[in-house]
Amino acid sequence: MGSDCLFCRIVAGEIPATVVRETDSTLAFRDIDPKAPVHVLVIPKEHYADVATLGQGDPALAGELLATAAAVAEDEGLLGDGFRLMFNTGAYGGQEVFHVHAHLLGGAPLGPMLARGVA
Ligand code: AMP
Ligand code: ZN
Repeated sequence: MGSDCLFCRIVAGEIPATVVRETDSTLAFRDIDPKAPVHVLVIPKEHYADVATLGQGDPALAGELLATAAAVAEDEGLLGDGFRLMFNTGAYGGQEVFHVHAHLLGGAPLGPMLARGVA
């Protein structure tokens, strides 16, 4: 993927980001437009478009992503009061960047799971 993908460019160091944790296979950095006191994006360094292709293509890497998210949640002091981990996927999910990323949100009560019900 590389130069066409914003988050691949962050992995490559071509675009700056506030990195809070890095492993051999994952990167966690602060969202540029935070929606909560803590809003960190956790990504695999390897390009997968979304959580479905990651989960089916490399379940072990998906597990490493969760381990990184959990470590960041601990570092940010979120384990006691809780947090939300979210993968927006595709058009209905409102995904805007097509390099899979978990949104780690916390630091305040986050309200209902959806802004409005759609059932
Ligand atoms: P999504 O709508 O789930 O695809 O989320 C994309 C997220 O990426 C949004 O929350 C944006 O604020 C965030 N974002 C976009 N560009 C950057 C950037 N350069 N650095 C950090 N976060 C970004
Ligand atoms: Zn990418």
